[in-house]
Amino acid sequence: MGIMNTIFEMQKIRDEAVSLGHDAKNWNVLGKDTYTLVCKDCMLTTIYNEHSTPMQSGDSLNNKCVKPEKKLKKK
Ligand SMILES: [Zn+2]
Repeated sequence: MGIMNTIFEMQKIRDEAVSLGHDAKNWNVLGKDTYTLVCKDCMLTTIYNEHSTPMQSGDSLNNKCVKPEKKLKKK
């Protein structure tokens, strides 16, 4: 699989996560050919590895984002 294909796949996964409400903008490099996408709000993680089957695993593509309760400043 070429690098362009990998980038395309990763963009697709990220867009899918974002469409579920996740605040996940950037992939982190976890190790060799392994990347993680972590939602800043609910901490759900998607793992991508171009050599595993399926290439993607994790929670953020199966679950809608659950936003944490915002800490409101007390007056
Ligand atoms: Zn989320």
